[in-house]
Amino acid sequence: MPYVIEGETGDWEVIVGLEVHAQIISKSKLFSGSATAFGAEPNTQVSLVDAAMPGMLPVINKHCIAQAVKTGLGLKAKINLQSVFERKNYFYADLPQGYQISQFAQPIVGEGTIILDLPDGSTRAVEIERLHMEQDAGKSLHDQDPTRSFIDLNRSGVALMEIVSKPDMRGPEDAGAYLRKLRSILRYLETCDGNMDEGSMRCDCNVSVRKVGETGLRTRTETKNVNSVRFVMQAIESEAARQVEVYEEGGEVFQKTRQFDHATGDTKAMRSKEFAHDYRYFPDPDLLPLVLTRGFVEAIKADLPELPDAKKDRFMDEYGLSPYDAGVLVVERPTADYFEEVAKRGRDAKQAANWVITNLFGALNKAGKSVSESPVSAGNLGRLLDLMADQTISGRIAKDVFEIMVETGGDPAAIVAEKGLEQVSDTGAIEAVIDTVMAENADKVDDIRNGKEKLLGWFVGQVMKATGGKANPGMVNDLLRKKILG
Ligand code: MN
Repeated sequence: MPYVIEGETGDWEVIVGLEVHAQIISKSKLFSGSATAFGAEPNTQVSLVDAAMPGMLPVINKHCIAQAVKTGLGLKAKINLQSVFERKNYFYADLPQGYQISQFAQPIVGEGTIILDLPDGSTRAVEIERLHMEQDAGKSLHDQDPTRSFIDLNRSGVALMEIVSKPDMRGPEDAGAYLRKLRSILRYLETCDGNMDEGSMRCDCNVSVRKVGETGLRTRTETKNVNSVRFVMQAIESEAARQVEVYEEGGEVFQKTRQFDHATGDTKAMRSKEFAHDYRYFPDPDLLPLVLTRGFVEAIKADLPELPDAKKDRFMDEYGLSPYDAGVLVVERPTADYFEEVAKRGRDAKQAANWVITNLFGALNKAGKSVSESPVSAGNLGRLLDLMADQTISGRIAKDVFEIMVETGGDPAAIVAEKGLEQVSDTGAIEAVIDTVMAENADKVDDIRNGKEKLLGWFVGQVMKATGGKANPGMVNDLLRKKILG
């Protein structure tokens, strides 16, 4: 369903392009040897290069280059064997060089594609315009002192990838799906940890609106540095609604940089938007053009992991999962690995998927834990499925056993033995319970014999209850039928 805003003058559609700054996973910075660990004391990870002392020269970090190439390949993008670092000139107190080293005319990665998995189960492609490398600036701290601002240069020089999409998204849901997919790919590749709350993935949202049916693009605004998927979706929703209101009142939208306000969920104007020429880009004379060999790129390509889209297709093929289940299981690599561990040894894969998605996710959500921290190991969940498959326990009892496994991390067979939860498949024992229940409900037995067969289900429930859920439900059903209906 396309996202439209209904206005007084007609329907509006929303055009979104995203620029994501993703921090490259690397022990050291893009042009210096300083560390990059999150949460260090201010100004403890700053070299003379990061502080822009006179005469200091940048030295490129080969690992960061490899990470950017790997990301480009993961986005099915064109890798440019020659790229150029340029200076983006501007003044700010947390940018001691007076310029950011970035890439402009010749980025390291060209056009690529991301496939969105939309909430209704459909997929859609969004084109990537480019990926370029650049260094991060320092951080201004305005909230530490009433009259002074402080500067922390720990981030100064940290390697970033700026991943720019084309204006291919059509509303907040698309943008949410894009960010989730991008984050998933980056985490599979281990090129960025995707932790938006730690600032290692930050998003600028370019938003414009136009009447449904219009073909050209109207003026866009850019909302800077939004740091969660939910906030990005909110920012787009409110900014698009604001623009529609402006147009409907006969006004004009100006190319402005805006800021997202977490408290209100709205965007507010920061400054009029700069144009590229304002930054006076020019090739950095301290750095030669970056030239990659084909062999360097091919070696990285040969080493790529199976990525979420390929894994999803394989899960559908190999395990017969629905697109939805497969999609949910592949978002995070540890979840996909967990599922495959549960499903191995020829176990029922759909049942395995159900238990992971419903029972395991439910328990983990409640405990605020990730799959990697699961108290129930994949091996133990697999053995629980085995106990159901060989009729040692019923599905009902399996849920109880699972609860205990969540609490204790224990082995399912041991729990079943200890608590005496084995399924009762002894005909005599089940018949005895059936006889009691029938004697206590003679009127209902007559009702069934007179044609109200639906009541059989009620009897099954009573017998299961009387056996603490341990009776074999199939046998209960058969025996009841035989006894009541003959
Ligand atoms: Mn940038």
